[in-house]
Amino acid sequence: MKTIADIDGKIRDGSAVVYTASEFKCLIREGENVTAADVDVVTTGTCGVMSGTAAVLSVLVAGPGEFERAERVWLNGVPCMPGPCPNERLGVVDLIVSGTASAGAGYGGGHLFRDIVEGRRIEVVVEAADRSIDAEVTIDDLVYARVFTTRTACRNYTAYVNRLPTRIKTIFSIEGLQGRFREASVSGCGEINPLQNDPLGLAIGAGTPVLLNGSIGIVTGEGTRSIPERPNLTAIADMAGMEPRYMGGFRTSAGPECVTSLGVAVPVLDDRQVAALRVLDEEIPLPVADITTRAILGEATYADIWQQPDQDVVYHPEWCEECSVCVAATVCPTGAFSRETGIDRDRCLGCTACFFACPNDAFMTGEGSLRVGTRRVPITLRQSGRRLAEDLCRDLRDMILDSRFTFTGGGRW
Ligand code: SF4
Ligand code: SF4
Repeated sequence: MKTIADIDGKIRDGSAVVYTASEFKCLIREGENVTAADVDVVTTGTCGVMSGTAAVLSVLVAGPGEFERAERVWLNGVPCMPGPCPNERLGVVDLIVSGTASAGAGYGGGHLFRDIVEGRRIEVVVEAADRSIDAEVTIDDLVYARVFTTRTACRNYTAYVNRLPTRIKTIFSIEGLQGRFREASVSGCGEINPLQNDPLGLAIGAGTPVLLNGSIGIVTGEGTRSIPERPNLTAIADMAGMEPRYMGGFRTSAGPECVTSLGVAVPVLDDRQVAALRVLDEEIPLPVADITTRAILGEATYADIWQQPDQDVVYHPEWCEECSVCVAATVCPTGAFSRETGIDRDRCLGCTACFFACPNDAFMTGEGSLRVGTRRVPITLRQSGRRLAEDLCRDLRDMILDSRFTFTGGGRW
């Protein structure tokens, strides 16, 4: 049996054998008999809509004594919660900002977090007891800026369909989930999800170093509603160092949502961990539930989402009929598509909404479907981005191979 110190030693001297989760699954599918002697680290990851994301910010907005304490604060119109520290007469406001807080017009906390990380100018409005203060800041003006999660990397998601004839507004749909059984909405990165690869909790827990939105951070423990059968994590990291492509806003029919990503390196100490890492999409259950009652109506697997051919969404401008209103651009929940510039891969989550919205089939992708009773219901919305999660796994693998990420030398953490 290896120890964490053994693996860190190999990382530091450049001899560690590191695979991404996808590379490791390829070995398993090819029938390789992998043991703990063959591999030291497997990098896992997930990226998608994660409502349980927030930020703690400390913002300098005025000189000392200019106001007593902030009563209400908005950043780019997103309502923030001042405090808990009142910072009396310091001109500084400490804020907690929810990733799902809404400024209206489809803009919310997730959009704000990405704008901050991209270095954009952020409009600040502070209401104090007797005055209002306007300011503009960038990430360089933020004394403290960290993202924390209250529930991340859920191991078990549920797919949703609508049994009723009317559309249902929900965070699991961009324009309301159509009934009866017209479409299904899915989440989760399946076999590369960190907790899916560590079901016994041998490797991941409080203190585990991670990449949160691409920035080195740490797991702080279990998240809300986490139970052994349906675990999730809390994590925290500095916004400085985050990669905009791994985060952002996502518009839904029930308000703005937040895209978050988590990359976790799993140290392979013994063959129990290898056994856990062998899990494949086709073995991971995905219950299908009614969006209103949450009653389970069917059972699929993650292979129905992620083992379909040609999952990438590809735009063919030569097939575009230049409609007066481009519904593909209108429906895109991340602002990744315009017919003039095509798909911005750094914003695209691969959700497939443009593919289903375009009346002239200017997009191609591999469509999946879920079995519900005797029906096959098409998957019209993927709220997790497996391509981005795989990119994150590769980034983490490369950081380990370059000795920039170890298990015990987690930088400032
Ligand atoms: S909806 Fe489709 S065909 Fe129409 S403008 Fe947009 S991309 Fe082109
Ligand atoms: S798949 Fe299409 S609709 Fe979805 S994020 Fe990408 S460009 Fe936008």
